[in-house]
Amino acid sequence: MHKLAEGIYVKTGSQDINAGLITTTEGAILVDTLMLPGEMRGWARTIRRIAGDTVLFMILTDQYLDRVLGTSSFDCPVVAHELAWTELRDYDDETFYQRLATHFEMLDLDITAMSEILRPRVPELIVSSELRMYKGQRELRLIHLGGHTPASIGVYLPQQRILFSGDVVVCGQHPFMGQANTKQWVEALEKIRAMDVKIIIPGHGPICGMEATLAMTEYLQRARERVREFFLKGATRRDTVEKSGILDLLPVPADRRLVETQKVRLGVEHLYAEIRKEESMSRQ
Ligand SMILES: [Zn+2]
Repeated sequence: MHKLAEGIYVKTGSQDINAGLITTTEGAILVDTLMLPGEMRGWARTIRRIAGDTVLFMILTDQYLDRVLGTSSFDCPVVAHELAWTELRDYDDETFYQRLATHFEMLDLDITAMSEILRPRVPELIVSSELRMYKGQRELRLIHLGGHTPASIGVYLPQQRILFSGDVVVCGQHPFMGQANTKQWVEALEKIRAMDVKIIIPGHGPICGMEATLAMTEYLQRARERVREFFLKGATRRDTVEKSGILDLLPVPADRRLVETQKVRLGVEHLYAEIRKEESMSRQ
């Protein structure tokens, strides 16, 4: 666990997911949760030890299963973007467990942990463009960023100049583009660069600074250019997935090869459709 400032902590779980704890004089506020039941139990114990039993809110930076599964650990309102609410609200047991199985398979995780996982809590407080919270002496700004998913928000602490960016910034692994709008994503990164931020807690990977947003922008722009090149020379979606070499944009450790390959494949499939749409609109 890292302590970033007085009362502000980050815990990193499997897939290098970062979850945050922000203490206030009135209770704790959590940013995202950890995915696997064992690690979330440990994190929940740490939260209670540091912050006591009162957890005021859990904020979700997007609706993906890697950060929402631990919400069943606390009995407090979940705050998220309206599109995260729509998605989480629509789960019934069947759709949820189907998705969970696909998710575990994609991440190559031990499926025995699945039996302990409950359906994530449905958000009760909804962010559309921005929401400010004042608790104790703290100010939190929940800012819609989009790009990674339409529901991506950042949690900004202006007094400490800290930003929990969710997956709009990831460090040391490929970003997941499977539901992305990469054009908006590049804009979201510009929006972050215009903010007064000293420390970024990325959705996954080591804590970083503003330089990580530049690396993300470069990655996304190169991926967009590469896929556009393939599209314009008439490559099929499948060919683009196989041959565009997006996986080589970042070094991948051997133990993450499978996961990263699957993530990039889904991402490039989606990006191909995005670029095709952009090109057909530009020709109209
Ligand atoms: Zn993620």
